[in-house]
Amino acid sequence: GEKEVEQLIINAIENDWVEVYYQPIYSTEERRFTAAEALMRIKDENGKIIPPGIFIDVAENNGMILRLGEMVFEKVCRFIRENQIRQYGLQYIEVNLSVIQCAYEQLADDYIRIMEENSLSPDLINLEITESASVSAKKTLLENMQSLMSYGVRFSLDDFGTGQSNLNYIVDMPVDIVKFDRSMINAYFENGKAKYVMDAAMHMIHGMDLEIVSEGIETKEQYQTMEDLGISYIQGFYFSKPLPEQEFLAFIAGTQPRSAVSVSR
Ligand code: C2E
Ligand code: MG
Ligand code: MG
Repeated sequence: GEKEVEQLIINAIENDWVEVYYQPIYSTEERRFTAAEALMRIKDENGKIIPPGIFIDVAENNGMILRLGEMVFEKVCRFIRENQIRQYGLQYIEVNLSVIQCAYEQLADDYIRIMEENSLSPDLINLEITESASVSAKKTLLENMQSLMSYGVRFSLDDFGTGQSNLNYIVDMPVDIVKFDRSMINAYFENGKAKYVMDAAMHMIHGMDLEIVSEGIETKEQYQTMEDLGISYIQGFYFSKPLPEQEFLAFIAGTQPRSAVSVSR
């Protein structure tokens, strides 16, 4: 029940049982992994991993997502600093923002402080927002985005193809990347008419000079279709599921040559 999940969240915050997994993002142009998405998990008292589908809604309802989100961001910044991810050919890490965080006036100040504490260059960070964030608190969201963008952080629009997916929304939101949700990708392969929806969305988004990430790519056929369509970035189980820090780094190091700079452990 909801109370049990709430207790899981409280325990995770108090004991620092919050973990960040990383899922690689492949560039079809560069033919290598150039980015990754940070995805939160919490652990219970037995060390069992609990996925966000179980606890995000509860944490949003009781406000604890503010602390969880900040813990994730601190861990991502530390991970980037300690591992110098550019040496792995990675240009940035995408981090999810909850609608509750977007509506929080202190968000930009907190996140800028955390980047400064880690001496991070802001172009190593890309924050993912969703359409629902602008529906609920557009003014605060835009103020947060403006502060973070002037600092040098960039934004993606997550979950495109779910909910309203109002194309005007993309016009309003200062994002650089639009992420096509897995449901839209699946519809593309299952429904003849859905092809036209995605083709049209893709042309409009490219016309606005934004990049597209196709999420939830699971098969070679799906990958090839997305590449042929001209989608720049691909994320999905076809390449890798989200991995814990060290497994993720080993995966990246095993798939592509690192730069000349040697990585010390
Ligand atoms: P999202 O941001 O759209 O993240 C993509 C989700 O799709 C991830 O689920 C990922 O594991 C899953 N996925 C990726 N490729 C495939 C695939 O090929 N097949 C299938 N079936 N699934 C795939 P995950 O990690 O369970 O996260 C679910 C959602 O929880 C995320 O959706 C995001 O909305 C939320 N979330 C995750 N981490 C955070 C966080 O740190 N903060 C906030 N506020 N939300 C988060
Ligand atoms: Mg996301
Ligand atoms: Mg998504």
